Amino acid sequence: MCGERFKIAPDVMLCPKCSAEQNPDEPLKGVLEVVVDGDLPDDWDVLDLLPVEREFFPEIPVGNTPLWKPVNLRRELNLKNLFIKDDTLEPTGSFKDRASYLVAAFARKYGINNIVVASTGNAASSMAGVGAAAGISVTVFVPKSAPKAKLTQILQYGAKLIAIDGNYDLAFDLSLEYSRENGAMSRNTAYNPLTIEGKKTVSLEIFKKLGAAPDYVFVPVGDGVIIAGVYRGFIDLKKFELIEKIPTIYAVQSSGSDAICRAVSSGKFVRIPTSTVADSICVDVPRNGYYAKMLLEEYGGHCVVVSDDKILAAQKLLASTTGLFAEPAGAASLAGLIEVKDEIPQDATIVVLATGNGLKDIDAAASFVGTQR
Ligand SMILES: *Cc1c(COP(=O)(O)O)cnc(C)c1O
Repeated sequence: MCGERFKIAPDVMLCPKCSAEQNPDEPLKGVLEVVVDGDLPDDWDVLDLLPVEREFFPEIPVGNTPLWKPVNLRRELNLKNLFIKDDTLEPTGSFKDRASYLVAAFARKYGINNIVVASTGNAASSMAGVGAAAGISVTVFVPKSAPKAKLTQILQYGAKLIAIDGNYDLAFDLSLEYSRENGAMSRNTAYNPLTIEGKKTVSLEIFKKLGAAPDYVFVPVGDGVIIAGVYRGFIDLKKFELIEKIPTIYAVQSSGSDAICRAVSSGKFVRIPTSTVADSICVDVPRNGYYAKMLLEEYGGHCVVVSDDKILAAQKLLASTTGLFAEPAGAASLAGLIEVKDEIPQDATIVVLATGNGLKDIDAAASFVGTQR
């Protein structure tokens, strides 16, 4: 990172100098970080910390998701201060709405009427839904193997769906080509710096609700944008002297797709083909890998890698003890907590992010419980 600063504008995505050194098969170079300037009013709310004025946000209830006490799960795991932040309840059913919401507001501010995004499914269905509320036309590039519910959402929301015969990594490249040729603004995760910034709202909400920072946060990780957003929120809170310490954050990945965790332990990113039942965290090249790795190292975060079987077991445990049915990626965070439970004091304040709704992808969950038809 060269440290150069830019004014936020629709054509500023990556730092031109750093991204000129981009190698294929590596995470994005030159990912930009939004910096918050100025003072915070005493009665601040989350929108005061975002870089777009509130009148531009579309009328759709993104964020302010419940942070609640899963009493049975607390008993089961013997963790007294465990909380779930339930982003399965976002309007389109995933955490991605936090980023889409800010991107849509930004587009409205600059009169941009055309957004394009590549996605494994959730970012696309999210941008399609939030775009529909904002009156913006949305084009999405998604692997045709994406779960049927996510593809259906995209079409229901009225977006243009380009289902490609390839994986997310190919969708990413094709969508950038489309954006160059058609002048559409890219909402690609990490590439558009507002995707990271939009996701920080989760930490601000957790702080508001708890009145303090938690000790631990468990985050499912694919491209590494949610985890960077989680850090961004706590970094802002620390900057405004509302908290003293950044929580210890655990990045949870599937053993079938663990590029960031591998890079944290080996020091470098190596592209290998990945596959996991948790489709939303299945990425060969984690776009925000460098930035996520840097944050984990700087703030003493940890990585946990769990098997797909453990993810499916955690999904079932979550559903059967709390009534919350999350998609596999959305329950991976709980699988990570279960894996490292013995390292964590029983009375620590722990937040597990549930990032996506179980009804978005029922195949693996169905076979796990033996649904017959
Ligand atoms: C996108 C997504 C993640 C991972 O977020 P990254 O920013 O790619 O690390 C986790 N869970 C769900 C449900 C998602 O849609």
